Amino acid sequence: MNLILLGAPGAGKGTQAKMIAQRYHLPHISTGDIFRENIRKETEIGLLAKSYIDKGQLVPDEVTCAIVKDRLTWDDCKNGCLLDGFPRNLYQAEELDKFAKIDGVVNINIDFKLLMDRLCGRRVCKECGESYHVSTLNGQTTCHCGGELYQRKDDNPETVKSRLDVYSAQTAPLIDYYTKKGVILNFTGTEAPAEVLFEEVKKVLDEKFGK
Ligand code: ADP
Ligand code: ZN
Repeated sequence: MNLILLGAPGAGKGTQAKMIAQRYHLPHISTGDIFRENIRKETEIGLLAKSYIDKGQLVPDEVTCAIVKDRLTWDDCKNGCLLDGFPRNLYQAEELDKFAKIDGVVNINIDFKLLMDRLCGRRVCKECGESYHVSTLNGQTTCHCGGELYQRKDDNPETVKSRLDVYSAQTAPLIDYYTKKGVILNFTGTEAPAEVLFEEVKKVLDEKFGK
């Protein structure tokens, strides 16, 4: 099955994605992670992506769609995949329809008021990608896996504002797009631990697709 995770920045897509990917044995494909890896390796794609990501804007569609289209041809996708952060606008969704059939869209609705603080206080593990909030770290600088925690460069108030605006203008219309196709699965993100939301997601996905 091919699944999409939809939700505003900070809604908890990444954390749910890890848990969903593990339970249903799907490769977790995060365009944000792919871009960040390219930035670290200073590839051509990385250089280009950085200029947009640092401003909280979307990386151009042609580049993004080409990356995903290629990634979906890998062997590990033959039984499906979990897309996290793609598509992010109508153009990307229409392109995706040309090369993949989407079975379900896990949409995480969340109160925008929670997001600014969540994102600006977020610290991410360099090794495993787990995210934390500074308020719970008590000065701790490493992850439970031993990896070093860092703050993403785009997790600052100005860039977050722009990312939320981009989400409202360009990504939120996808909720309607996938509702009309009959594949949307709606959830509400809260301040509760990610496991609480995952229990609900699991129930719905198990029911719909089997374990
Ligand atoms: P978040 O959902 O917290 O904003 P992501 O890691 O998904 O984080 O994305 C980080 C940045 O990477 C985005 O702000 C955007 O600049 C870029 N990006 C990720 N996915 C896409 C995409 N599908 N299309 C264009 N740009 C993207
Ligand atoms: Zn870690």
